[in-house]
Amino acid sequence: MSALMTPIVDYHMHTPLCGHAVGAPKEYAQHARAIGLEEIGFSDHAPLVSHDDPKITMNIKQLPIYHKMIEEVRSQFAPLRIKIAMEADFIPGFEDKTKAILQSYPYDYIIGSVHFINRWGFDDPAERERWQQKDINQVYHDYYDLLRKSAESGLFDIMGHVDLVKKFGHRATEDLTGEIEKTAKVFKKSGVAVEINTSGLRKPVKEMYPAPECLKIYCQAGVPLTFGSDAHDPLDVGKDFDKAVALAKAVGYKEYLIFKQRKVERVQKI
Ligand code: ZN
Ligand code: FE
Ligand code: FE
Ligand code: ZN
Repeated sequence: MSALMTPIVDYHMHTPLCGHAVGAPKEYAQHARAIGLEEIGFSDHAPLVSHDDPKITMNIKQLPIYHKMIEEVRSQFAPLRIKIAMEADFIPGFEDKTKAILQSYPYDYIIGSVHFINRWGFDDPAERERWQQKDINQVYHDYYDLLRKSAESGLFDIMGHVDLVKKFGHRATEDLTGEIEKTAKVFKKSGVAVEINTSGLRKPVKEMYPAPECLKIYCQAGVPLTFGSDAHDPLDVGKDFDKAVALAKAVGYKEYLIFKQRKVERVQKI
């Protein structure tokens, strides 16, 4: 990737604790430094509150290891700024348990992601066949409904990959503009940001999350922005951020958010 013209921040990356990422945190930081990023944030998958699955997330006992590991790289990589965050799922009925985990450490921000619809991990390659039994339009409606509930839960600062449901290329036949507009209003009212997540380019759908027409709706609703590569490999840190910045500008964004301890630390121009 060529050098970035603006100082861009990558707020979405993982560690091997989730069971499906490679590379030590210091390798993620090294790559960030090598491509000229000034700030990154680790946002590994928070322990699942509904069940344990070592291939999907760390477990609760590993949380102190995660914190220590990132604190260590943070102290080694100054002036690169390193934030400590989490990517957590909104699982209806488990709000208290989720809240307890997210409040157990002074995280800089929490990314709220929907990866499950009624316990079905719709973006998990291992559960991909179940799409064949599904009404795709209904899956999309259920997905947007969960996104809105996630934002309204107050558990999260940033909503992750907000059209992840398209990951394998399943497309709704209905026009979902109304669903997205409704979701954008809820995001704005709940005070959450939305991320441009470049990992979709590396998935079967071969598109960023969210799609341009979708991101435009969030921008017009006044929902603030962050950037994330969703790197599960050090070499993916900051990947395609030139395209992400171009997308942000094309739909009308002029700035993005920097977080510290669950508050907006400052706003950065793009
Ligand atoms: Zn992951
Ligand atoms: Fe995710
Ligand atoms: Fe992620
Ligand atoms: Zn993610």
